[in-house]
Amino acid sequence: MTMNKQGIVIHPEELTDSMIGMLKGTCINVLGLHPVGGARADEKLRGFLTLFSSETFQEKLKKVRELGIAVEYEMHALSWMLPRDLYEIHPEWFREDKEKKRVRDFNMCVSNEEALEYISGRAAELASLLRSDTGRYYFWIDDVKDAFCCCEKCRRLTPSDQAMLLYNAILKGIRRADPNARQCYLAYLDTMEVPRTVRPEEGIFLEFAPMYRDTKTPLGENRCEENQRYVRDLGPLLSYFGKKDFQVLEYWLDNSLFSGWKKPPKKIAVDLDTIRADIRFYRERGAEGITTFGCYLSDDYQELYGKPPIGEYAGCFLQKPAADSAEENRT
Ligand SMILES: [Zn+2]
Repeated sequence: MTMNKQGIVIHPEELTDSMIGMLKGTCINVLGLHPVGGARADEKLRGFLTLFSSETFQEKLKKVRELGIAVEYEMHALSWMLPRDLYEIHPEWFREDKEKKRVRDFNMCVSNEEALEYISGRAAELASLLRSDTGRYYFWIDDVKDAFCCCEKCRRLTPSDQAMLLYNAILKGIRRADPNARQCYLAYLDTMEVPRTVRPEEGIFLEFAPMYRDTKTPLGENRCEENQRYVRDLGPLLSYFGKKDFQVLEYWLDNSLFSGWKKPPKKIAVDLDTIRADIRFYRERGAEGITTFGCYLSDDYQELYGKPPIGEYAGCFLQKPAADSAEENRT
């Protein structure tokens, strides 16, 4: 029997005492820490590792764990695992763009065995620095669309195949540091399609992140074309990856997205009925972990608008599953 995980994903610097206070007494049992992605993800991850090693931050994590909340790390780690300055000595480790030029901007050449071995080693290092409380790891490829390798060998691989090769290499590495580790395949942007030729190794699980969904309309309703596209993508993904460890990363509380990734944060408006309907939708499809980005809701938000709806969000998980209420009606 696996326990349902329900969580929230925030930026590390947003883990303040008042944030911990808001998590207290809720049914949230997983906290994901997410250094900012984008083009400067490696720099942000280095900054996080420095913060992480400080006593004050470790003290905060201790308080979180005392609430029965497990800590995980979710981030675009590829540019940290394959530092861009390696281009000077190993340009062949980097991707070839459509003009047949090796470029170091994003991702890498997934047909280069040496480069794959290198990121396995770096993934092991990162997993030993940021050991997950749950054994689940979310070391993602770069946070960008349309930036895969077009070299002779990689050309036959779809973006999802290329991502799958990278996640398999990352899994191999993190298992050296944590033998029970599992690594996600992030279905997001260009990788929503099922890989065609590369199989996931044992220990890879599906993480589904429907970034462009409408968070005010339940996924299961056919009012919104964008949502329907995600619903259509999810079925084949689940058949391919299976339900074991299936994790949803939602945007219901992603105030960084709603604020256009610009401070000051805007006032968030959440639709709790949609969240409740979506939770039912995902649980019916076997989701073990359901979490949402909840960035831009920390102290600066509270100063402007008061308490963010984190407790209300957590309350959405407390609805009774349909099967249970039927059971009750019988007596
Ligand atoms: Zn290549």
